[in-house]
Amino acid sequence: MPQQPLQFTHIPHPTPTPAAERQALLDRGGFGTAFTDHMVTIEWSEGQGWHKAELRKREPFLLDPAAAVLHYAQEIFEGLKAYRGADDAITLFRPDQNAQRFNESAVRMAMPTLPEAVFLEAVEALVKADKDWIPAGNGSLYLRPFMFASEAFLGVRPSHHYTFCVIASPVGDYFKGGAKPVTVWVSQEYSRAAKGGTGAAKCGGNYAASLVAQAQAYEQGCDQVVFLDCAEHQWVEELGGMNIFFVMDDGRLVTTPLSGTILPGITRKSLLALAEEKGIVIEERPYSFAEWQADAQSGKLKEVFACGTAAVVAAVGRVKFADGEFQIADGETGPLTLRLREELTGLQRGKQADTRGWVR
Ligand code: PMP
Repeated sequence: MPQQPLQFTHIPHPTPTPAAERQALLDRGGFGTAFTDHMVTIEWSEGQGWHKAELRKREPFLLDPAAAVLHYAQEIFEGLKAYRGADDAITLFRPDQNAQRFNESAVRMAMPTLPEAVFLEAVEALVKADKDWIPAGNGSLYLRPFMFASEAFLGVRPSHHYTFCVIASPVGDYFKGGAKPVTVWVSQEYSRAAKGGTGAAKCGGNYAASLVAQAQAYEQGCDQVVFLDCAEHQWVEELGGMNIFFVMDDGRLVTTPLSGTILPGITRKSLLALAEEKGIVIEERPYSFAEWQADAQSGKLKEVFACGTAAVVAAVGRVKFADGEFQIADGETGPLTLRLREELTGLQRGKQADTRGWVR
């Protein structure tokens, strides 16, 4: 059924957060605990397609206890940021990529796709309505588009009703230590995704499955968990919420290939493009935990960094696992990590000319 053009209805918040209260929330920083005044919702029903597109005050959903998402976890989401530049210009970084990945996730989870233009309009409408919530300086407004099965039905089949929503949260640093190198925990017990599974989709279930390993990482005093492949527990996949790169002494950049079990990160893709333009040799290939340990020990491995929308580019300084731990080079942020981080954040915040059409 062809999608009818969607008309967004704007219903402004009758009593938005007072400016002083909002500023106090912005000053508090942190990640994902404060929320803006508005949200966007769009409904989808079998036979009717997408309809009822609204920008309205953020409020709890009225959800039937039999809503399919509560039972079978048919849910997907995205994460992107709006930045306030020095000249007060507000930018989004490659939101079209989030729209595309959202639809790839939707297809994997047997959900309806959302036209890319509608995804972008929804995100932009919310950013415009809540633009006063975008922090200045190093902060940003984290945008969370998501979709869930909202039909009240307990049979196991794709839902006949879905709700799409976008909410926003002003954020500061993702890691408590700010830009300091992080310590990671390599889980040799739990896996995140299997071949043929949902690893490449951004669905809530992947994250539910990762929490016990992430909790172990915290118990070990680490910032993030690193997952290995599910078959051999040998190959480095990705972190709980970030992709991973290795910088070798001859300048080569190694990262896990997109084999269907890791999330195709937009930061990963952007860094690969930047590195390629610099003439850096890139190897998208399986890299084992054994190689990682040997390369760190021999000094061949110069830098390791994790990347994603939330933390951008974070140096990995130490690695812990059940039988020991090791350091990467001197444990500090290396030169390529720093260079890529500065280049990417410069682009995202409009400080660097955008020659690639990445900034909106
Ligand atoms: N891997 C996982 C599991 C993630 O949750 C994320 C964050 N979306 C990433 C990688 C990085 O993706 P992106 O660069 O698009 O934020």
